[in-house]
Amino acid sequence: MKKAQGSKPAIGRLADRISSIFVPSVMLIAVVSALVWYNVGPEPAVVHMMVAATTVLIIACPCALGLATPMSVMVGVGKAAEYGALIRQGDALQTAGKLDLVILDKTGTITEGHPAVTRFHATDGDTGRLLALAAGLEQHSEHPLAEAIMAKAKEQGATPDNVTRFEALNGKGVQGELDGQTARLGNRRWLESENIDLAELQEEANAITAEAGTPLFLALGNQALGVVGVADAVKQDSEAAIRRLHDAGIRVMMVTGDVDGTARAIAEKTGIDDYRAEVLPEDKATIVSEMRGKGYTVAMVGDGINDAPALAAADVGFAIGTGTDVAIESAGITLMRGSLHGVADAIEISRATVRNIHQNLFGAFAYNSLGIPVAAGLLYPLWGILMSPILAGAAMSLSSVTVVTNANRLRLFKTTINAGKEGNQ
Ligand SMILES: [Mg+2]
Repeated sequence: MKKAQGSKPAIGRLADRISSIFVPSVMLIAVVSALVWYNVGPEPAVVHMMVAATTVLIIACPCALGLATPMSVMVGVGKAAEYGALIRQGDALQTAGKLDLVILDKTGTITEGHPAVTRFHATDGDTGRLLALAAGLEQHSEHPLAEAIMAKAKEQGATPDNVTRFEALNGKGVQGELDGQTARLGNRRWLESENIDLAELQEEANAITAEAGTPLFLALGNQALGVVGVADAVKQDSEAAIRRLHDAGIRVMMVTGDVDGTARAIAEKTGIDDYRAEVLPEDKATIVSEMRGKGYTVAMVGDGINDAPALAAADVGFAIGTGTDVAIESAGITLMRGSLHGVADAIEISRATVRNIHQNLFGAFAYNSLGIPVAAGLLYPLWGILMSPILAGAAMSLSSVTVVTNANRLRLFKTTINAGKEGNQ
């Protein structure tokens, strides 16, 4: 990270390179025109010599050059903030436009980061009854899955049944009593060992598993009532945001500590190009470095403490704003909305900003370059025109006005999030 902060952004180097040619050239032109005016110019030779040389130096002064980059960056940083992307490291904005690989953490970055009910299915179609009984059992439980079921029941307007004699059975599920019958909510092995036939729910359970969820079967007495799928759900706009990254020509990869099956389900659901499963926390940074070594300009997006080294190792680190402070501290950009759209927004804004800087550099030099021959007195032999230093000063300030005006044009920029119907704006 230190290395990244110490290095000068490419645009800065471009401005330096132009200056390194421009400044000596101008000095040379000033000296040559002074000599010419002194030797072959009209009287008073000294006055003409001084006027020509001074005017060349004034009109050539690339003072707008100093404004070209910072003005655009300032407007670009403001624009990014408008989209909820806080730029914390100066060159992150300029580097973001060059990214060609985005590596995403899974839990809390692509997904919500906590379990939620993704599907529920009742054998008799009465999902209200299913959720009422599931919630009746889970209201006594402290398991994270219970919270997800309670939330779903509340959302669907199901009142939890009054279940008595609650018991949580480790590695099996929960059970209690309703109307003198035993109610059970838990895994397949347990319910089947209690002689409950779950064949009818097989298809639905498979769908839950395919989406990286956990199926919880519900039975009252010996009768299977249905199945509830609980999973760490993919954020509703993750897929659309990943599509925007693809549209921008960027490869998207996921790294996760999860098992291969879960990782593959998420990758397929969201259209991710490539994934690495069962990655140890400390290996995330290694993968970032490995991909940089292959020539990619890499972004890492993450929310957790374990993502911090990878965020710091990337060309640009994006921290999910709802994530941990350590992640935020390690990243160059913080996404306040917690949505992956922020990554695509920042990249588009970066590209627009860099384009704007290039226009500014052109604007900063164009007037000067055109003005120099006139200031040197090239038109004098033809029409007797010699520019006054005052006019040169005015022309020079015009290039600053151009740069400032052009940089402000960036305020009108809109990212493609507004174009897509899944936009979260
Ligand atoms: Mg995470």
